[in-house]
Order: sequence, then C-alpha cells, then structure tokens
Amino acid sequence: MASSAPPQWPPEVTDEQREALTLLATTYALSHGLVYLPPTDGAQPPAPTAVIHAPLALFPSPFPRRQFELARSLQSHYNGMYARIAMAEDFLDAVMGAEVGVGRVDEFTGQLWKIWKRLRSEGITQLRHLGLFRSDYLLHTPEEGGAPQLKQVEFNTISSSFGALSQNVAQLHRHLLAKTEYYNSSPVLKLENMPPNDTIAGLAEGLAAAHKEYGSPSAWILFVVQNGERNVFDQRWLEYELLEKHSIRVVRQTFEQLAVSAQVVPTSRILRLKLPGQLPRGAESVEISTVYFRAGYTPNDYPTPAHYETRYLLESTVATKCPSVQLQLAGGKKVQQVLTQHIHYERFVCPPARAASGHPVCQSWMGMWGLDENGDQGVQKARQQAQNLVLKPQREGGGNNVYKGDIPAFLDTLPREEREAWIAMELIRTPEGLGNYLVRAGGGTEGAVKTEVVSELGIFGWALFGGSDRAILEKEVGWLLRTKGKDSNEGGIAAGFSVLDSVVLY
Ligand code: ADP
Ligand code: MG
Ligand code: MG
Repeated sequence: MASSAPPQWPPEVTDEQREALTLLATTYALSHGLVYLPPTDGAQPPAPTAVIHAPLALFPSPFPRRQFELARSLQSHYNGMYARIAMAEDFLDAVMGAEVGVGRVDEFTGQLWKIWKRLRSEGITQLRHLGLFRSDYLLHTPEEGGAPQLKQVEFNTISSSFGALSQNVAQLHRHLLAKTEYYNSSPVLKLENMPPNDTIAGLAEGLAAAHKEYGSPSAWILFVVQNGERNVFDQRWLEYELLEKHSIRVVRQTFEQLAVSAQVVPTSRILRLKLPGQLPRGAESVEISTVYFRAGYTPNDYPTPAHYETRYLLESTVATKCPSVQLQLAGGKKVQQVLTQHIHYERFVCPPARAASGHPVCQSWMGMWGLDENGDQGVQKARQQAQNLVLKPQREGGGNNVYKGDIPAFLDTLPREEREAWIAMELIRTPEGLGNYLVRAGGGTEGAVKTEVVSELGIFGWALFGGSDRAILEKEVGWLLRTKGKDSNEGGIAAGFSVLDSVVLY
C-alpha cells in the first residue's frame, strides 16, 4: 500500500547488529563483483591482483513508489526524444555548433562538433546510432508543501555508468534481508518493496541489438576505455553478459591503443582492429560491429590532437557508435536547457495540442536559462537568485558545477564571451530527515558511518535508431540509486562523493 510520509530512516539497529550487517555487506560485495580496482600512485597494473568493495549504503533507502514508477515510465519518452535530437542536424548545429552555437566558446564541444562537420563534408553519415542512456532525478519538496515531485538532474548520453554495480547492490540488499531480515528493524523492509533490477541484461541487450542489426555475427564489440580506470568491473559485467548470453566477444582498448590498432577498410569503411597474437585461428585483425565509449566524454580523454583524430576515425566507420558524436552532443547540458523553451519542446517532446496541459516529461524539469540570455539579464538573474541555483558548464563526470554562494564570485571572473557555455538551473530542494549508514573502503574511515543523506535515482534505457526506415527501437532497462551525505553538493561515486544504494519503496 502506498503511504505518503517516508519511514524513519535508517531503522534502529544495535552496534552489534550494525557490525554484523557491515561484515556481511562488505564480504558479499567482494564475492559478487561489487568492486573497484584499488587506488594506485601511478598506472594500474596490467593484470590486477586485488580489489576493494565499492562504496555502499548498508540499508536500501526509502523512495516513494509513485515517483519511482513515474521515473521509469518517462524513460521511453526520453529515449525517443534524444534519438530525435541526435538526428536533428539543424537543431544541433544551432545549439552546439562551432559556427553559431556553444562550440564557438567551449573548446571541447567545438572539437566534437568539428568531427561531425568534417564527416558530413566528406559525405559520411552514420548508418545507425546506439544510446545507452541514464536519466537522473532527485525528489523536490515544493515550496507550497505537498508530496515530493520528481525532478530531472540531467540526461546522460555517453558512458552512463553503474548499470552493473546498481544491479549488484540491489542484490546485496536482498541478501542482507534474506540473511538477517534486517533484524526486523523496519516494517517497510520487505522483499515486495524492493523492486527487481536487471540492468546488466538490459544494457547488454542494447549492445547485442546493435550488433545484430550490423549483420556480421562473427564481428566483435569494441569498448573504448580510459587509462587508469578503476570502475572496470561495471564494464566487465557487460562484457561477460555479451559473451555468455549473446556469444558476442568484446575487446577493450584505449584511444592510444586504437591509434595503432584501428584500420578502416577503403570503400566499405568497415572498422577492423589489428590484434596480432590475440585472435583465434591465427587471424591478424577482427571486424568491429559496435563501438561502446566508456571514454571520450571529457577533454582529459583527448590530451593531444591525435586523440581527436582517433575519435574521428572511429566515427567515420560503418560500425555503430554508442554514442555517435552527434548523440554525445545531444546530451549536452545546453541542450537540456534549450529544450525547456517552447519551440523546441513542441518539436521534440510533444505536439502543441498537448503542450498546453503539460507533458509529464516537462513537469520533471526545473527552471533553466543560459547565462548569455538577453544581454546581461541571464547573468543578473543568476546573481539575484544565486542561493537557489547551480551553474553548469558543458562537462560530464562530476565536479564541474558552481553552487549557491560561490556563484557571484564566479560570475565576476567569467569572461563575457564564455557565458554561452554555461547554464543556470534552479536547485532541487531535496527532502530532509532521511539517514543511512555509508560504508567505504580505505581512506581511514573504516566501518559504517551514519549520516543524513540525499538519494539520486537514475533510470537506464537504450535506443537504437537511424536506419533507413528511421525507426527507433528503445527500452527502459533498470535503475540506480546513489546516496550522498546531505552536505555534499555533488553526487559522483567515482569522484568519491556518494555511495551505491538501492530503493525500498513506500
Ligand atoms: P555531471 O554530468 O557532471 O554528473 P550533473 O548535472 O549530474 O553533472 O551534476 C552533478 C551533481 O550535482 C548531481 O549528481 C547532483 O548531486 C548535483 N546537482 C546537479 N543539478 C542539481 C540541481 N538542479 N539541484 C540540486 N543538485 C543538483
Ligand atoms: Mg550527473
Ligand atoms: Mg552527466
């Protein structure tokens, strides 16, 4: 039964019970691949010998059932919407381009857009695009009171991570329930309130669908990965699923490795990788059906022009990119902001007839504007409302935003011509009073630390589109809960701010 008030959280447990739960949790995590590579001073060893458990919440966190179901039901709209945006050349050129859009003032956006422009000038179009998406939400307490509302933080179109680990942490919480019944510490902690989460199968199915459409069963899937990545198991789980359930092989390569290994077959534009000594039957190279980027979303991944050249080379092939460079551009914060303007909203979300009554998709948006809006007005408004705002540049991966009291001083130093690269977004006012025990490995804080928390829900989905029939194949495939201490503005797990969690619905 749905009730409106959140339960008392975390439930009361004794010190002995908390310690027993912590031991069960960390050992379960270590035995079930809910893990990271440990931090190192320099490079990761080529063949790792040790792991640490991922940061985790000891209890699942309460989330209102209605808002959870709503978030899942929105995903199909978002999947379709971002596919349509990626195919809307005029719109992306205007918003993200380097001639008239954000790409003029933001170097990274400009570099990506120029790759796309160059391909178009050479007459090269993407055959198909794949997106493995994650739409992120926080609960918002309306000023006038009443039930919490679901509000979108951002929509990720590249390297959406934690699909696999979110499934593993949901299983961890089920295990703790089965093993200890959480010591009957809360009537809400029941299996029926803990929804299934099959994200690994769902995301792998998206990659497998792209592979199948490509139509060369013996081809492999390429994972483009970062040097020194510690969150490798989140990626490996997808690799294992592809092999075991779909009989598709995966190869992992960095941009540096690809600069040597990648070749484009003339005329057919097939992507092949030279992997001498690594292929069965003595073959020298292997055909790639699908390129899955778990790197390339930050300028740090392109330290030299050669790195952009490698991205261009991959984009120029007939392999399906996840995402294509234009689908990556579609995921820009600027696009998210511009979509709230009526003309674009009506084009990509819903027809004018429905726009008046409000679509659930747009009801999930906070107010946003560009700092370059109406002469100085965008900046003035940001100064006036600073306490209620976050400013965001065109970046991914956490740690890039400017919050509240830091905004005025930041605006003082922001050159006028760079304003276009930033959006202002109203702060989501998250519900207060919920706590949890956060468990991190290393860093001097051993054991479970009780703290007041904020939880961010992510919904995973994929879309495969762009074929000659313009059809969009899409699916919602699972969810993620990340929980952070209330006083941390940011929520990146990899950046060390938050922990993996799962939902208990109420
Ligand atoms: P990134 O692409 O770097 O992850 P996000 O837009 O997700 O950028 O912002 C990072 C974090 O900042 C979010 O996970 C969330 O914790 C916080 N945040 C972002 N936007 C808002 C907002 N409007 N209100 C409150 N917190 C926000
Ligand atoms: Mg984010
Ligand atoms: Mg992001």
